[in-house]
Amino acid sequence: METEISKNIDKAAQLLNQGHLVAIPTETVYGLAGLFGSIETYNQIYEVKGRPSDNPLIVHIGEKSWIYDLIDSAPTSLEILLDHFFPGPLTLILKKAYHISPSLTANLPTIAIRMPSHPLALELLRKVGHPIVAPSANLSGCPSPTRAEDVLEDFNGKIPMILDGGPCQIGIESTVLSLLDNKPCILRPGIITEEAIENVLQTKLGSSGKEVLSPGMKYRHYAPKAKVSLIYPHDSVPFSSGWVLSFENELKGAIPFNHQNFYQLLRKADRENISHVFIFVGPILSKEKALMNRIQKSAGG
Ligand code: AMP
Ligand code: MG
Repeated sequence: METEISKNIDKAAQLLNQGHLVAIPTETVYGLAGLFGSIETYNQIYEVKGRPSDNPLIVHIGEKSWIYDLIDSAPTSLEILLDHFFPGPLTLILKKAYHISPSLTANLPTIAIRMPSHPLALELLRKVGHPIVAPSANLSGCPSPTRAEDVLEDFNGKIPMILDGGPCQIGIESTVLSLLDNKPCILRPGIITEEAIENVLQTKLGSSGKEVLSPGMKYRHYAPKAKVSLIYPHDSVPFSSGWVLSFENELKGAIPFNHQNFYQLLRKADRENISHVFIFVGPILSKEKALMNRIQKSAGG
């Protein structure tokens, strides 16, 4: 199968409606999209990604109102969160409606829902007229794709089309917020911070016990083939042993990185056969919860 990179939304909608998978741009990372409601499509997504079957998929919606048909009941905080953060990089975990297939939720009684803000993703969703299912468009365990070319690297010949929406603006995955308990709690940190959600809800968030983390968080994740190590201000800087990446400006000679290009640099390291990537953790980066979470995972933590 030829994998076509194109901006043709009508074609993407048509392929999805015919049961094919299409990679789509979102503001966070590219998603591997399939039509909601088809168990065959869900199985195809797990197979193409090599995703463990106990790691559920995220459902993407094109209008806020679509959420109510997917969930069992609406907690009081839901409407405020929809008002403030949808569309955007926030995924909500809610009790699923009875008709949602356990193949979609990996047998969990809950469902993950998000409304992407990328204009092409929204236009596609509205054209399809139904939710779509879309985990990140990378091979399971590899760094997430933030450009159409990254998707091609993982899925060339395995899917018919990549909808090209340019490089993703945010570059790391959405914040995952559980609304299952009285106190909402963050299961995966992202660009929308705990403080931002607390401000909007006017309440402290709960803390997620280790056992209730999002299922995907237990796997080695976001990892290139290169070994990834963290170094700290008092360590010597091993410039001769591999690449040194720094979020802060002070470290002379290091490759600068930020949320948007972090995964791209990990992929580039692999293309250039770099065997070891060192990430300098200084005082500023250490406070960036979402990025630190991805860095620790890519280092195997
Ligand atoms: P991905 O989009 O591939 O990065 O994966 C989606 C993320 O959402 C993974 O970390 C999943 O484990 C998480 N997720 C999906 N459904 C649920 C759910 N019902 N409860 C908790 N986390 C979920
Ligand atoms: Mg993923």
